[in-house]
Amino acid sequence: MHRCFVPPDRLRLDVFDLDEAEARHAVQVLRLGPGDRVGLLDGAGGLAEGLLEEAGRRNARVRVVGRTSVPAPAVPVHLLVALLKGKALDLVLEKAVELGAASIVLLETDHGVARVPSEDVARKRETWRQTLVEAAKQSRNPWLPDLVGPVPVDAAAETAQESGDVLLLASLAAETRPLGTVLAGLPRQITGIRIAVGPEGDFTEREERRFRSAGALAIDLGPRILRAETAAIAALAIASEHTRR
Ligand code: SAH
Repeated sequence: MHRCFVPPDRLRLDVFDLDEAEARHAVQVLRLGPGDRVGLLDGAGGLAEGLLEEAGRRNARVRVVGRTSVPAPAVPVHLLVALLKGKALDLVLEKAVELGAASIVLLETDHGVARVPSEDVARKRETWRQTLVEAAKQSRNPWLPDLVGPVPVDAAAETAQESGDVLLLASLAAETRPLGTVLAGLPRQITGIRIAVGPEGDFTEREERRFRSAGALAIDLGPRILRAETAAIAALAIASEHTRR
């Protein structure tokens, strides 16, 4: 069944119009028409099934015929990842949704090569959000991760510390412990897990120190040096397996 993204305030209604882009895709590309069923998700845990009532060139009206809501993960896992270059970042955003990340915090790092000039941030964030929405529809994840940043490492470390979540630093330094081992040793009652992954050029010593001073535990993902995107995806996969209900 084709799935459409609908903001939470609209999915609460029994009858509503899809956004123009969603409507055009459903009607003009997929040739759906009145009477066809669509899946609906709102990014805030809401899932529903809808019937197309009207299908015009630019607008499509949907009637909700059944709804459920999926609870948020008991232990949210947040990914803090350096602002990677285009394709690598797109991959991380997509996989983070598939693996159920609660948020993705993009980090401005000293060795990061990707930069977004401030006048481009809003446009970029909209593009990234669209990638998240597509991945949510594809993976039937009704929880759209929050997208934060790009923010400096200092700010991300401070927020992490204030959150009280367990902060983990994916590190190539000598004194690390395997991620699985660290997760297995955590108390049951934790508010969340945040995992920081550096850029291709790695975190600087200053950045590593900043995370450690915010209470980060240094973890490793095995003996090989992974691409930043591999490290982010692997860390999320391991953490999401550990935290699943
Ligand atoms: N340019 C560096 C590699 C950076 S890898 C070098 O050649 O040494 C990019 C990021 O991925 C790192 O900052 C780290 O956060 C993470 N990473 C890669 N491999 C890892 C591993 N085996 N364990 C933990 N983190 C890893």
